[in-house]
Amino acid sequence: MQYANSLLDLIGNTPLLRLSTSLDDLAGVEGPLVLAKIEYLNPGGSVKDRIATRMIDAAEASGALQPGGTIVEPTSGNTGVGLAMVAQARGYKTIFVCPDKVSEDKRNVLKAYGAEVVVCPTAVEPEHPDSYYNVSDRLAAQPGAWKPDQYSNPNNPRSHYETTGPEIWAQTEGRITHFVTGMGTGGTISGVGRYLKEQNPEIQVVGADPSGSVYSGGTGRPYLVEGVGEDFWPETYDRGVADRVIEISDADSFAFTRRLAREEALLVGGSSGMAAYAAKQLATELAAEGRTDAVIVVLLPDSGRGYLGKIFNDSWLAQYGFPSGHAPATRTVGQV
Ligand code: PMP
Repeated sequence: MQYANSLLDLIGNTPLLRLSTSLDDLAGVEGPLVLAKIEYLNPGGSVKDRIATRMIDAAEASGALQPGGTIVEPTSGNTGVGLAMVAQARGYKTIFVCPDKVSEDKRNVLKAYGAEVVVCPTAVEPEHPDSYYNVSDRLAAQPGAWKPDQYSNPNNPRSHYETTGPEIWAQTEGRITHFVTGMGTGGTISGVGRYLKEQNPEIQVVGADPSGSVYSGGTGRPYLVEGVGEDFWPETYDRGVADRVIEISDADSFAFTRRLAREEALLVGGSSGMAAYAAKQLATELAAEGRTDAVIVVLLPDSGRGYLGKIFNDSWLAQYGFPSGHAPATRTVGQV
C-alpha cells in the first residue's frame, strides 16, 4: 500500500508542466522550453508549506517554541496555511495578522484551519501602531508566543535551498538555463537562486515584480497583486542573487492569470500570472536571439481558488479600470 503517515510528508516534490498555448505569440518560432513548477499541489495549496515546516522545526530545536505555545505571524495567507497545518499536527495555537487587501476567501481558509485572524489597514506606514508588522509584534510579545518572521528567518530561504532548488535541478537534469519567480520575502528567489548558481553559475536568476515595488526600483506604491512586491528590503532577500528583475503591471499580471486558466487549465493566483508573464517575455527575447536551447523554469506559488472574487471576477476588474476578462455569463435555468 502507498500512503503517507503525515500530511507534512506530502510537502514538496511538485511537478513541472510545459506551458504551451499561453505562449502563442511564439507560435511558428522554435522557442525555449518554458516549464511551470506547480506549487499549488502542496497539501496546504502553496509554496509556503515548504518554509512552514523548516521554521517550526528550527524553533522547536532552539526552544523558541515551547509545547502548547502560540505561533503569531503577519502573513498574506499562504504562510499562515502552512503554519496552521504544522501547528495543528503538533498542538500549537495560531494567530495571523493580515493586511485588509487580503481576500476574504484567504482569511476564511485560515479560520477553517482553526486559526485566529486579525485584519489591519494597508494604507498606513509600516511604523504606524496599527500596521500589520506592529500589531503582530505586540501579539508576539505575549507569554508563550513565538513569531516565525518569514521576512528575517534564515530557514525561509534555506527551505528553498534544500528542497525547491534541488528538485528543479533534478527534474531538468541540470538543463535549466533561467529561473523566474516573484519576490515577496525573497525567500524563494534567494534559496533556489543560490542553489542553482552553485550547480551552474551560468544559470540566470530572474525576478518578476509588480510595478511600484522596491525590487524593481519603486517606492512601494500600492499594487493589487497579492503576495509579491515589497515597500522595504527584507533580510531574507539576497540582494546579489537576481541577475535581472522584470517589472510587470497589475493589468498584465491579471490578464495573464486569466489566460493561464482559460488556455492551459491552470487555475493559479495573480503572482503566478505575473511570474508566467515575465517568463513569456523572457522566452520571446530568447527566441529572437535564437536561443532555442534555453530551458526556463517559472515557479507558480498558489492556486486561483483564493481569488475567484477578484481576478476572476469581471466586476472587480472593472472597478479598478482593468479590461474585463469576458468571463462566460451564468444563465439561469429559464433561459436555457
Ligand atoms: N506569491 C504568493 C501568492 C505568496 O504568498 C508569496 C509569499 N509572500 C510569494 C509569491 C513570494 O514568495 P517569497 O516570499 O518566497 O518571495
